[in-house]
Amino acid sequence: MQTPDRKDFPIPRVGATRRLNRMSEKRGDLEWVAARIADPHSRFLLFADLSLAVESGEDRNDTSIRWYAADELATLGADPATALLLGCGEDGHAIFAISLTAAQAAAAPGGYDGLKPVVDLRSLAQQGALSPDELSLAGMARALAAWHVTQRCCGRCGAKTNIREAGWRRRCWACGQEHFPRMDPAVIVLVTDGKHCLLGHHRRYAHKFYSTLAGFVEPGEGIEDCVRREMFEETGIRIGEVAYMATQPWPFPHSLMVGCWAEALSRDVILDEEELWDARWFSRDEVRQMMAEEHPECLTVPGSHSIAYALIRSFLEAR
Ligand SMILES: [Zn+2]
Repeated sequence: MQTPDRKDFPIPRVGATRRLNRMSEKRGDLEWVAARIADPHSRFLLFADLSLAVESGEDRNDTSIRWYAADELATLGADPATALLLGCGEDGHAIFAISLTAAQAAAAPGGYDGLKPVVDLRSLAQQGALSPDELSLAGMARALAAWHVTQRCCGRCGAKTNIREAGWRRRCWACGQEHFPRMDPAVIVLVTDGKHCLLGHHRRYAHKFYSTLAGFVEPGEGIEDCVRREMFEETGIRIGEVAYMATQPWPFPHSLMVGCWAEALSRDVILDEEELWDARWFSRDEVRQMMAEEHPECLTVPGSHSIAYALIRSFLEAR
């Protein structure tokens, strides 16, 4: 199988923070964290029920994260002890996330409405509304915040868990079990016979939207095993060689998408109809039309914020 050169592979940025010093060695330093939370130079981004508070013009073209200062936290009903340390920016100042429930947000000046606009991050990603750096930072924050929402109780004994390590751990007060932020590895796969690629129309997707196929890695599986199992289960296609291309953190809620190319050994599609409406082979000419939104059947592909787009584009560009 001929795969694209790794250095030419376009890597999408959602959730992958490269310009942030994560300060992982300082997370357990309570004094340092408390001083950063109180520091007037520190910045806080805010979620209300996991939607991001933004500053935005009417057409969303100039949307950016709405930053709050430490002295605004109390008036927002935000408990500084729940601040999640994302790290320090290039200016050396700390960046935190605060995740409020709608009930807590009601304590903000003007109530919940006083925080608006709050926008679903997936919509912002699809619209390309935030800069890549801000989208990545907000994606990291959302994945961490979403984990806290579902980890309030201990999975071992059922008692309450408390935040530790500036948001990077939770500990059960009763049995002492430590819980770490969850990431769910999944494969996302460009299946090709050399001249065509296999794209699917998932039951979750909007009308006429085709994408690379994906599935979660199970216990006991490596990446290659998972690619072969998932592609066979969903489409009946037998896979030969598998090549890793790139990884994308995908904060909906907290997956790690492992992008691969896979060599098809067979061509007859047998659909898993519970998962997919359709899966079919597309030539490069057709894929080019889909990307340009000029396909005769009005079929489209995912937006440029996704690793699916990067995989499909790499198929077009591969010689
Ligand atoms: Zn416990």
